[in-house]
Amino acid sequence: VEQRVVVVEDEVAIAEAIAVRLRSEGFVVDLAHDGPSGVELCDRVQPDLVVLDVMLPGLDGFEVCRRIQQHRHVPVLMLTALDQETDLIVGLRVGADDYMTKPFSTRELVARIRAILRRAEARPADERAVLRVGEVEIDPRTRVVLLAGSPVHLTPTEFDLLTRLAEASGEVLGREQLLAQVWGYRDGSGARTVDSHVRSIRRKLGDDVIRTVHAVGYAIGPAT
Ligand code: CA
Repeated sequence: VEQRVVVVEDEVAIAEAIAVRLRSEGFVVDLAHDGPSGVELCDRVQPDLVVLDVMLPGLDGFEVCRRIQQHRHVPVLMLTALDQETDLIVGLRVGADDYMTKPFSTRELVARIRAILRRAEARPADERAVLRVGEVEIDPRTRVVLLAGSPVHLTPTEFDLLTRLAEASGEVLGREQLLAQVWGYRDGSGARTVDSHVRSIRRKLGDDVIRTVHAVGYAIGPAT
């Protein structure tokens, strides 16, 4: 089955380079060069994944991300010009699954797109038991997270990261281990991606849900 990717990027040379690479890898690719036409294109073609630049004319990438996720979840990989923490945190909060900082290699971009799509495909078959961490309840089958009985919205990546830590039941997992197991990367790059997602999960579910183990990584539950 062909997988369809929408690329929303106003720098035409970058958009074309991404399109050429993705098409050579067998993806169907559609391009938009500003925010409003990106939203319109996603509504029309219902892509399997969106590559979305942050700085766009018309509407910025964050707003585009919010609008395209209004009716159904679609995986989003954001492109940022600067490796700015605020950009990353806002991006992850509006529902992006991952981000890359320019300049990046199209080979790496394809690897990340495949990893995101693999995770998206693995989800429906999931039938594991409900996990509990203090007041937090995680249902891997329905992908619902409750905090003191009330549902909390996590992005798909935040959900997978929290679930992986919860399944390890207190065992400390290193950033590179988490990147490999949650994101599917093998090269160990992007450890800050893990940190950003952990911060976002703590903001939504409280600081005690994940503890930092200095110089090692993360574990589920409060510090003891
Ligand atoms: Ca741009």
